[in-house]
Order: sequence, then structure tokens, then C-alpha cells
Amino acid sequence: MKNDFKILTDTFRKSKSDDLYFTFFKGSLLVKRTKGALSIPVFDEVRKLKVKYENEFFLGELAHQACFCIEASSEINLLRDFELIPLYEIGKSIGEELFLVAGRASQILNWNNTHKFCGKCGSKTENKKDEIAKVCPNCNHVMYPVICPAIIVAVTKGDKILLAHNGGFRNNMYSLIAGFVEAGEDLKSTVKREVFEEVGIKIKNIRYYKSAPWSFPNSLMIGFFAEYESGKIKVDGKEILKADWFTKDTFPNLPQNFSLARKIIDEFIDRNVSQRVL
Ligand SMILES: [Zn+2]
Repeated sequence: MKNDFKILTDTFRKSKSDDLYFTFFKGSLLVKRTKGALSIPVFDEVRKLKVKYENEFFLGELAHQACFCIEASSEINLLRDFELIPLYEIGKSIGEELFLVAGRASQILNWNNTHKFCGKCGSKTENKKDEIAKVCPNCNHVMYPVICPAIIVAVTKGDKILLAHNGGFRNNMYSLIAGFVEAGEDLKSTVKREVFEEVGIKIKNIRYYKSAPWSFPNSLMIGFFAEYESGKIKVDGKEILKADWFTKDTFPNLPQNFSLARKIIDEFIDRNVSQRVL
């Protein structure tokens, strides 16, 4: 991946006619199809569609082109060449880099939607002028975009990897063990706890691998490798319905290419695991 996207937090940045506009309506992103290829429309194009919206947020620059996001407050009149695609489908259609920018847009719009009122006193909030935050005009309580950290871990046993089927997965897909960090918990403890709670085994040699945002709706996934230590697989029957050890020749259906889960599984296949210790 080129990784040309630079996150910027300049709330005073004004939009121009050729800036990219990540426009969402009910969780789907507005895209333009030109000769089969999908792209993100610029401000002028969005204006021609007469999209109605309340707030716009500056996201940063993609290869020096400014990116903004808005959420349409009513149905978009889709002219020829324009369509709405659910965020989850976007990675396959527009590539990983635009998927990341769309993810940042989606997280900020989700936060914008869920922080219209002060959590302390219930008054209507306002956008803070000098940073991406909401402020309560009554009690001055400030609310920043919420990011929920979650761990994801590849537990290995020789040439085998532990994969689990979660009741919410489609197409009998299997993935890695994952779960949210509890209040007051450090990351390695989360990894140990989640693996034990979901499949009943103990692990050792927990090593940090890499992290990635996961915008469904507002997580940061922190990826690890760990080795099997002891115990027999016993699924919790609530979140995890099936789990087993797999070699690369016996893999079930796996998560999509752009997900951190898939990248960790691919890394396992390549046998090129980072040795970085957290
Ligand atoms: Zn308040």
C-alpha cells in the first residue's frame, strides 16, 4: 500500500471545489463510476447532486488533495454514474487506501451522530472551533471522537493456527480470536483473557504485531501473535460456536484481504513473524 493519506486536524480548513468529499448516507459511501472504475466525487460534483447536510469535517490530505466528510440528511438524488456502496464493501471496490480514509470519515460521522447532546447535562452540543470535538455550551463538557481498542490474536501451535467461527460471521467464515479491552486492563492481559474466555486455552509468548483502525463502528484493532501453552479447545458457545487448529492447507473461509485479521493470517502463512516485543 502506498499510504499517501495524511491525517490532519485543522478544523479551520475551508473546502474548495476540487476537494474530495466522502459523503455518507445511512452507512453507505457515495462513489462515482467512470468507465467501470470507482472514485470519490469532488465537492463540485456533490454540490450538483444537491446533497443536504449539517456538518462537514476535514479529514486530512490524500496525495496532497484535501478530504472532507459529510453525512447526507436526506435521500441523495443519484444522477447517472453515482451510486452508494456500504462501507464494508468499499475495500474490494476502491482499494485499501480510500477504504482507510472512508473509515476515518465514517468514524467521525458516527461520533457526530452519537454526541448531539451533552452526556453530563443533556444540553445540545456544539462543534468546538479549534479541534475535532464537541463542547457543551451549558457545562463546558468536551467530547472527543470515541475510539474503542480491541485485541486480535493469532494463537499458533507449530505449523497450526487457531481459527474460530463467531455466530455473527457470514458464509461459515473463520477468523482469529478478538475482543475489546476492558477498563483498567493492559493489552497482554486482554489477549490472555479473551483467548481463555472464548476457547478455554492458555497461551504464552505474546508478541505485538501491528494495529489497524476498524471502522465498524469505531475500533482500533491491535494485532498479536501468541503460542499455545496448555488446555483443550472448549468454545464459549455464546460468541464462538466452533474453533479448531488449521494448517495453511486446510483453511476454511477467511476474512477479506484488507482486514487486519487476514493480514495476520497471511503473515502466519509467510512464516515471517515480527519478533517485536511489546
Ligand atoms: Zn453539559
